[in-house]
Amino acid sequence: MRELDLETIVSHGLCAGCGLCASLAGGDRLQMRLTSHGRMRPHAREPIDPETLEGIRSICPGIRVTGADASQVGSAGTMHPVWGPIRSVHRGWAADETVRFRSAAGGSMTALGVFLLESGKVDAILHVRASSERPMLTDAQISTTAAEVKSGAQSRYGPAAPLVHVHRLLDEGRRFALLGKPCDVAAIRNLARVDSRVEAQIPYCLTIFCGGVPTPQTAQKIAAHHGLSEAEIEVFRWRGHGWPGPTHIGTRDGRSCDLTYDEAWFDPSRPWSYDIQFRCKICPDAIGELADVSCPDGWVMRDGKPIHEEAPGVNVLVARTERGERLVSEAAAAGAIELAPFAISEFEAMHGDHLPRKLGNRARIAALAIAGAPTPRFEGFRPWRMTWRAGFVRSLRAFLGTLRRIRAGAHREPLR
Ligand SMILES: Cc1cc2nc3c(=O)[nH]c(=O)nc-3n(C[C@H](O)[C@H](O)[C@H](O)COP(=O)(O)OP(=O)(O)OC[C@H]3O[C@@H](n4cnc5c(N)ncnc54)[C@H](O)[C@@H]3O)c2cc1C
Ligand code: SF4
Ligand code: SF4
Repeated sequence: MRELDLETIVSHGLCAGCGLCASLAGGDRLQMRLTSHGRMRPHAREPIDPETLEGIRSICPGIRVTGADASQVGSAGTMHPVWGPIRSVHRGWAADETVRFRSAAGGSMTALGVFLLESGKVDAILHVRASSERPMLTDAQISTTAAEVKSGAQSRYGPAAPLVHVHRLLDEGRRFALLGKPCDVAAIRNLARVDSRVEAQIPYCLTIFCGGVPTPQTAQKIAAHHGLSEAEIEVFRWRGHGWPGPTHIGTRDGRSCDLTYDEAWFDPSRPWSYDIQFRCKICPDAIGELADVSCPDGWVMRDGKPIHEEAPGVNVLVARTERGERLVSEAAAAGAIELAPFAISEFEAMHGDHLPRKLGNRARIAALAIAGAPTPRFEGFRPWRMTWRAGFVRSLRAFLGTLRRIRAGAHREPLR
């Protein structure tokens, strides 16, 4: 891999927008800002010195992600060729019905965050929540009370940089857990290799399955469809308040505009799309293999397909580490979450939308390299087993699709 500078990482579409580089360099030197393309990207306020740049390169999940070692499951679980390390897996949801109702799915992330705080396992939770000033945008949040953690219960389908506060929390000696996306967790795992404080001070990383991050333009177009401008909006909620719950806009003068999940996501006649960033298209791990616990939707299935009819929210809780497995069973024993059976074989139909990206990753990275584009180092995700499983035709399609995209410059981004 070429030694990439920050501008190259961003301009070649490798930045995931996590904010860890800004946390390392400090906000006076590097700030996370929305670019003209609606991506959350680091913005240098002064030249970055070589030592800091080297530090950023060593932790940036845009260019380096290393998969989990099979030894973390050992004989206690499975290193599944597609779904990664699994020590235990359950359906699950928050025992607190209000949390379950308000959250994105079953509220397991929020319930585990609250349990970690209230049991004294951590002093703070690092997560995100809707911006109070601009409700369509998303802010990083440090929470030290259950109420604050609950205020972040939501899926924020847009740019967020949850890791901007990591070094401040480490420097203050605080012990905290991260609730974020898989690439945010990958960043913390990279940091753990170069900063010995991480093992003791960030003992838990919880995540989601992640379809990718669109720009705020998607939310803006949904608002415009309802005839609303940003200034009129008090609440923008993608889902939750039910499961999956409506995509809800509440205005400052008390009006309410809702779309069902299927209207918001799957109606091709709607004037918005989900313009996810290039880094998401080459993501080696959108299913949180590096987390302690990964909490996707536990969709209700009909005729072998997920349906999105309203129901009490359910997650799948995939404990990937020994620590994660212990957390799930302790939270269940303490009455914070409720568990029900789930079989690994159910993943294939329930989360089959993740298969093309997962299986085609090796071919996409090969296309980047052959096109001479800056190529990230993604290791330890069973590439040959995935490629074998994908088969020749699917791999060739992923390879050629990425090559075409690179040649057309579709991965390129402006720095500002
Ligand atoms: C961008 C995105 C893509 C997703 N794609 C999928 C998918 O493909 N398949 C699937 O099953 N589920 C997906 N989800 C996750 C799903 O919507 C639920 O959030 C997840 O199942 C957790 O449910 P919960 O009820 O436990 O979460 P909650 O209890 O509501 O908690 C959600 C947690 O996620 C964190 N979070 C929300 N948005 C962001 C963000 N943008 N960046 C960092 N952290 C965030 C919040 O801090 C909060 O702690 C996605 C979510 C997001 C934000
Ligand atoms: S992926 Fe994260 S660490 Fe890397 S450049 Fe982007 S914001 Fe910075
Ligand atoms: S798809 Fe991957 S890179 Fe994109 S936001 Fe999700 S975890 Fe991060």
